[in-house]
Amino acid sequence: MTATPTFTELGLAPALLNSLQHLNYQHMTPIQAQSLPWILQGNDLIAQAKTGSGKTAAFSLGLLQRLQSSRSKPQALVLCPTRELAEQVAQEIRRLASSIENVKVLTLCGGVPFRGQASSLEYGAQILVGTPGRIEEHLNRETLDLSQLTQLVLDEADRMLEMGFEAALNAIIERTPKNRQTLLFSATFPKAIEQLAAHILRQPKSVKVDAVHDEHQLRQHFYPIEEESERIEVVKRLLMAHQPRSTVVFYNTKIEAQQLANQLAREGFSVLALHGDLEQRERDQALLQFANRSATILVATDVAARGLDIAAVEVVINAQLAHDPEVHLHRVGRTGRAGKQGFACSLYSPRDQFKLQQLREQLNLDITAEALPEKNVLFQPIIKAPMVTLQIEGGKKQKIRAGDILGALTGEGGIAGDQVGKIQITDIRAFVAVTKAASKQALQKLGQGTLKGKRIRVRFL
Ligand code: ADP
Ligand code: MG
Repeated sequence: MTATPTFTELGLAPALLNSLQHLNYQHMTPIQAQSLPWILQGNDLIAQAKTGSGKTAAFSLGLLQRLQSSRSKPQALVLCPTRELAEQVAQEIRRLASSIENVKVLTLCGGVPFRGQASSLEYGAQILVGTPGRIEEHLNRETLDLSQLTQLVLDEADRMLEMGFEAALNAIIERTPKNRQTLLFSATFPKAIEQLAAHILRQPKSVKVDAVHDEHQLRQHFYPIEEESERIEVVKRLLMAHQPRSTVVFYNTKIEAQQLANQLAREGFSVLALHGDLEQRERDQALLQFANRSATILVATDVAARGLDIAAVEVVINAQLAHDPEVHLHRVGRTGRAGKQGFACSLYSPRDQFKLQQLREQLNLDITAEALPEKNVLFQPIIKAPMVTLQIEGGKKQKIRAGDILGALTGEGGIAGDQVGKIQITDIRAFVAVTKAASKQALQKLGQGTLKGKRIRVRFL
């Protein structure tokens, strides 16, 4: 058996190796090992791999290795199906680029004002990450020039086609140089993807990393229910029995997802909903609070959760079986990422026989009914989120940085540094997680203090 390959053999720039070390990425994941040497040679690629396999770093390292930070026109463009995914990809690129100077990564998605993006573009950005609709709009209004592009990435290409972005994709690709490098990532390979690939890639290498989860990385459990009315009760019992610090519960419909979230909230669980009926801002805030541990449970529908890197999820519960095995795989892929063992529970009813058969056949799963956790688990205390989120009215536009917030919180009469969790800063707001125990003091301290010499408005989210 050969040793797991490390990043050091790739000839990466020292700054990138430095970032990898900071991130504690020691070994390449299989998709990275198979695709990176080829990507770094400048070749086209078509890759299929399960969610959570490390695709983002695979293409991001390729983009950053080739980047010329002295030039300010866009050199690389990553197209993503949703704004959430684009934000995450941009974040990963920024993390990997943190040791390189003068790299500007810009996200271009809908749901935020066009003008601000246009002026950022005018100012210069080498790497763009965005959704096809908004990118096309910039091209049409001539606020974006892709004539100097050297690299194009299509992330979750199948999803972009499903969402009706085909025309936008073609229009964008039309405006990029023919001699660009193109990398296409997709979880599935329907005909439409094959056609797209044939049309936009040149002599690509195809890489496929096993679609089925490794038994050691993911334990899947299946629980039968007899009646519809049992569903919520069973989800609750699983939550109480396992006491996970982070859980994503999947429902097939927005209404049911919201109903479950409401009921769990009434009963004292730290829960948030994530689905398409919520406004973009509410979705962003739900994710932010789940990621910074201000909530332990996220009840989500597939579209809203797809592609998201909520890597630390301990447990996935399929309150309803997904409509097809690919979607099932995506859901359970939220847990057990990058080498950590995962835990997935799926409920099924007598009406799900066909879905079960598909899971057995297509994913090679061994499905046997398991007994539910005892009823008495319901008397255990509910596990609460350890953190709460404070929202600060002021962000990048006001030149507020994480250090300023940390300083204001921990200064004289403030709270201890280890009471402060994730700090996230958007254009006009900032969010900081603090422990519940320190939250009142934190609110007071920030409310009485100043940031960048100005008084600040702050409240609990
Ligand atoms: P995908 O796009 O394939 O669904 P991501 O790129 O979002 O997966 O990666 C999933 C998680 O794995 C992320 O949290 C990322 O930080 C982590 N990760 C990626 N590459 C490595 C690595 N080589 N070692 C450790 N963790 C990694
Ligand atoms: Mg991804």
